[in-house]
Amino acid sequence: MAATSTLAPPDSPEVRRYNRIRRWLGIAEFLLGLALLAVLLATGWTGWLRDVAYSGAFQSYVFAVFLYVLMLILISKALGLAMDYYSFRLEHRYHLSNQKAKAWMWDEVKGFLVTVVLAAALAELLYFIIRHFPQSWWVLAWFGFLVVTVLLAQLAPVILFPIFYKFEPLQDEELKLRLVRLGERAGTRVRGVYKWHLSEKSKKANAALTGLGNTRRIILADTLLENYTADEIEAVLAHELGHHVHKHILKGMAIQTAVTFAGFWAANWALHYAIDRLHVFDTLSDFANLPLVVLTFAVLRFLLMPALNGFSRFNEREADRYAFENIGNIAPFITSMNKLAAQNLAERTPSRWVEWWFHSHPAISRRVAAAESWEKRVTSG
Ligand SMILES: [Zn+2]
Repeated sequence: MAATSTLAPPDSPEVRRYNRIRRWLGIAEFLLGLALLAVLLATGWTGWLRDVAYSGAFQSYVFAVFLYVLMLILISKALGLAMDYYSFRLEHRYHLSNQKAKAWMWDEVKGFLVTVVLAAALAELLYFIIRHFPQSWWVLAWFGFLVVTVLLAQLAPVILFPIFYKFEPLQDEELKLRLVRLGERAGTRVRGVYKWHLSEKSKKANAALTGLGNTRRIILADTLLENYTADEIEAVLAHELGHHVHKHILKGMAIQTAVTFAGFWAANWALHYAIDRLHVFDTLSDFANLPLVVLTFAVLRFLLMPALNGFSRFNEREADRYAFENIGNIAPFITSMNKLAAQNLAERTPSRWVEWWFHSHPAISRRVAAAESWEKRVTSG
């Protein structure tokens, strides 16, 4: 089957437009965040916010840090709310969403609260370290964030994701058996496969490998389980198992750790430049300098985006190859890819530079082509 190479059909204007809007929305959100940080720093309003936080906190440093972070998030949320809403409407306009406006608002509230809790905890940790170890703070902060990253990766599937979605252990016995067989062939075992109730919000399909250690699991969207054949779902499972076997989560965290190290080094340099040369802050522990730390990380992440996405696409190709080798027949992999593209309005053939800069996954057309050429190689001996 599928011996003749299926030429990728051109993406429809609708698909192109949807993806272009999504891309620009992402860029606009990023630039807005950058602009907010830059304005706060350039105008000195960050110092004014710090003073407000101090007086609201009755001069308590720890409480003032919390209030400052809260105000920062409130401002950025207020500025970005219109774009959030536009994004919600966009999904409806392209018939990709099942979510009611009320449920969306509730998600916004929950998202806001989660952001406040996480950001406040990180900021408290950061300025605690800066205050007590002003010389070596950036190395210690890097180490502290490493610990937090590991903890979050482990806890996310059991604490963070369930705030927004329902999950339940997969009941389908046949699928479970297939996964066990896949795992046995690979000499590995995944502890859990969970049904992810995505359909309450979205018509898109998705699957992922998440967690660390005893929370490691594969999650499969109900939108996938209900519309794909058992063979197609097995192909998706095999791909996710490939991520597990090749330790992609661990490797991703290692890269993240290296980036964070560079980030804190750069933040230390930027803070010292601002304090010693520009005299915009008196001390490292003046938390009004937080926007500068965040800005440093944001710029670094932006510059590294092509490299990080390239690394991710490399992993995806590896997981795909793992799937090719471990499913009996390549055809269900190809049909599942085509179904996913159609269901999610994904571009099968994005322009080269868009893929290079923005995409964490290889273009569907390339993944299908790789599957076809793999099959050709195998069948020709
Ligand atoms: Zn993947």
